[in-house]
Parts: sequence; structure tokens; C-alpha cells
Amino acid sequence: MTPDDLEALTLCIASPTRLITQPQTVQRLSRDFYWYSPVLKKLLDDKLAEAVVQPISTGEVVAVLRTCYRRRIPVTARGAGTGNYGQAIPLEGGIVLDLAAMDTIHEITPDGIAIAGPGVRLGVLETTAREAGWELRCYPSTIAKASLGGFLGGGSGGIGSVAHGGLRDFQTVRAIEVVTMEAEPRIVLHEGEAVHDVLHAWGTNGIMTKIWLALVPAEAWAQCVVAFDTFDQAFHFSEKIATGDDWTKRLVTAFEWPIPAAFTPIAACMREGKAVVFFMIASAQLDILTAAALDAGGEVTLAAPYTGIRTQPLLSDYTWNHTTLWFMKYDPAFTYLQCGFSPGEARSQFARLKARFAGDFLLHLEFMKNGAGIVIPGSIPVVRFTTEERLNEMIDFCRSIGVSVANPHSNNVEGGGRYREDNVQLLTKYRYDPLGLLNPGKMATFNPAEVPSST
Ligand SMILES: Cc1cc2nc3c(=O)[nH]c(=O)nc-3n(C[C@H](O)[C@H](O)[C@H](O)COP(=O)(O)OP(=O)(O)OC[C@H]3O[C@@H](n4cnc5c(N)ncnc54)[C@H](O)[C@@H]3O)c2cc1C
Repeated sequence: MTPDDLEALTLCIASPTRLITQPQTVQRLSRDFYWYSPVLKKLLDDKLAEAVVQPISTGEVVAVLRTCYRRRIPVTARGAGTGNYGQAIPLEGGIVLDLAAMDTIHEITPDGIAIAGPGVRLGVLETTAREAGWELRCYPSTIAKASLGGFLGGGSGGIGSVAHGGLRDFQTVRAIEVVTMEAEPRIVLHEGEAVHDVLHAWGTNGIMTKIWLALVPAEAWAQCVVAFDTFDQAFHFSEKIATGDDWTKRLVTAFEWPIPAAFTPIAACMREGKAVVFFMIASAQLDILTAAALDAGGEVTLAAPYTGIRTQPLLSDYTWNHTTLWFMKYDPAFTYLQCGFSPGEARSQFARLKARFAGDFLLHLEFMKNGAGIVIPGSIPVVRFTTEERLNEMIDFCRSIGVSVANPHSNNVEGGGRYREDNVQLLTKYRYDPLGLLNPGKMATFNPAEVPSST
């Protein structure tokens, strides 16, 4: 980028202080949690933007994109930078478009729709929704930091998914306002099925500037930890609660030992050598859950109320991809995969994985409802990393026994597991970003030579 480019960008925003070129800040805002993956770490360590622009309105986003289009400047959107596939890391320089300041909650409607800017932190949205009698259907374990736009752009689900599915399911995302990357950027509203054009597209085919998200009535929750002698017992009990229609739950997570050894701040709730299950369960069901756990041969090591995201301990801080973080601190030789087991065959799939990889493949299950309404044992196993070949061998073996894998060691939308088979994200990129300036390199199948001539 030239000094002239920077000057032109300054004219797009009301305050020049929101155009940042200070190297340390540019470096910090060019990074996410890509280092979770030893494969991506090697690939992305030296990738940087040349400047950061922080718009505060849709009008400023339009002005910035118009200027970047005319000057052929790549633009990488950023929420809070908690993505863990290098999604928000610019591969070809240009600017990072930091949307954190577009954090207005416009409304929580009486019928439970949150209307908000992309920069709003999910924790703030959850707290605000609960004050109005609603709560998020699902959220990542990074709720305190992560932004709504980043969740839609790069996330998939999390706490709450056991009851409400992932972000893309059951019309949780009702509508998205998107700004296109064209000579004259358009502001386009995607409603209903059309939200899938831009959902989980990593900011490659438009910049989200306003989001309509469906909520559910708020529930009084409790947290519970149960320890079992064997992983098989833990699986049996967690599956029963996760799939039982009578249980009102927000989180059902099972870990094999030694994963719980990594949870040092809550070591008092862990038992040496034992598997554990974490629950968020309706308060009114806590007593019957603990009774059922004892019946199943478990030891209840925590049964406590949940009072919001500041609750201590907060069990969700150890679940979903936070488990990986804790275990990598405990043993830096490990990384992770993202898998889906088949409900009826999960036990034999676990056995085959353990027989093949033993302690190099540690089971961490997150139960979640799929789009067909079936609760399945999803999984974010922590796996020992030696070489890329060995990691790929694990992925291939999983797939060969019917365990699906969304590969978190891939740096493009297609490789990461949420790419739509109907190609709507790619087709939208051809329409909204014909020059390929939005997060270039992340939509691997995009080929500028194939842009339809009508665009
Ligand atoms: C410890 C840990 C735990 C995690 N747990 C989960 C989990 O439980 N579930 C889960 O789904 N994910 C999880 N993640 C991944 C990540 O935290 C979430 O997906 C989170 O919602 C991303 O939000 P963010 O604001 O940090 O997004 P960012 O990392 O800033 O961005 C993510 C992607 O969205 C794009 N983007 C951001 N804003 C916009 C916008 N306005 N318009 C268009 N594109 C945009 C970016 O370009 C990028 O490609 C975890 C990550 C870590 C490190």
C-alpha cells in the first residue's frame, strides 16, 4: 500500500485515529488463534496486514470498501480474532477491517430476535438478552471475547448446541445485512435460506454489518460434574442425558483421562485416573440428575448454580475448543481434530481409534443436535502431533471408520468442514467480490477468471 492509499482510506472514516499503521498494533490485529495448529503456525506466522481500519458505521464500511476496490487493496474482516484456523489472518497484506466498534445492540424484539451490529461481544449479547427474558441458542466457549459477526463468519456452534443445533440450523440466523466489494458497494439483506450465502464464509464474500439472531426463552441453569471409573460409563451416562427428551440441557461434555488432569483451576472437581462429564442442566432438574448419576455409579464432584458468564467456576471455560487450549498448556506436544461419531456405532469407533492410536488420541465428546434433530456425539479429540503425515493418517483413519472430520488444520473455507455442497458461498463470492479482494486465498475454489460476465 502506498502513502496515497492510506490518505484515501483516512478520508473514509470520521476520525483518522481509526486508521492504524503502528506496527505492533497491526501485528496484534493480524493474528488469531492459528497457532493451535502446528500446520497453520508454520504457514501463517509471517502473514500481516499493512494497516487496520476501524469503522463505526455501515456508511464507513461502504466508503472503505469502495476505496479498497478502486485501489485493489485486500480487506480481511476481523471481529475479536479468536478464530482458530487462521481465518482472520490476511494472506496478501492490505487492511484488516476491525469491526469491534460496530457493537450496538439495536433491539431485543418481544418475540426473541436480537438485532445487533457485528462487533457486539457474545457475552454482552447473552447478558442483555437474559435481562429481557431470552438467551442465546448456542455460543462458543469464547463467549466473553468473541463477536457476533466473527461467530457467524467463522464459528459453528457450542454451548446450547445439544438442544438447539449449530448456528446454521433451525433458522437461528434470521437475516444478515452485507456490504459487497464492488466499484459501488451495495448493502444487501439476506433473509431466510439466503443467510447461508454468507454464513461461515470467513468474510470472503461480503462484510456483515447487521445481524438478526433468534433467541430462546431464558432458563435457570445449574452446573454439574460427575466422575466415572471408566470412559465407557461416562459415555453411557452422558449419552442418556444428551439424547433424553425429558432433560433440559445446555451442555453435555465427556472427557477421558488424562484430559481432566489439564483443568488445574478446577482440580478439586477431578479425580485421578477417572473420566468426567460436565453438564449445564435446568436448575429444577439438578437433584434428579445427581441422583441418576449416583445410580449410574458416578461421583458428583460439583453441583452448583449458574448465574451468568461470570460464574466461578465456569464449566464452559473447559469445554469445546477451550479443552484444547488447556491440554496444549498441559502437554504442548498435542493439537486437536474435530470429529463426528455415528450415534449407533460410537462405541466401536472409540475402540478402533484407541486400538490404533492409544494415548495419542484422547477422547473429548461434545454432544450436539444435528440439522435433522438427532443428538450425536460430536468430538474435539486432542491428538499428539508428531508430523503432518501422522496427523493426516489419523484423519484418514477416522474417515475410513465412518467418523467425520472437519479439518482444523486447513486455512480455507472448503477445507474446514462447513463449506456448503451447493456452493452458495462461492457463488455469492462471484457476485459480491468479483476481484477476490475479500480475505484473499481463503476461498480456495474461487477463480477470478470464472467470474460470470454479467457481474
Ligand atoms: C479457546 C477457543 C475456544 C473456541 N470455542 C469455539 C466453540 O465452542 N464454537 C465455535 O464455533 N468456535 C469456537 N472457537 C472459534 C472462535 O472463538 C469462534 O468461532 C468465535 O465466534 C469467533 O469470533 P471472533 O469475533 O473472534 O471472530 P474472528 O476470529 O475475528 O473472525 C472469524 C472469521 O469471521 C470473519 N468475520 C469477522 N467479522 C466479520 C464480519 N462482520 N463480516 C464478515 N466476516 C467477518 C473473519 O474474517 C474470520 O474469517 C474457539 C476458539 C478458541 C481459541
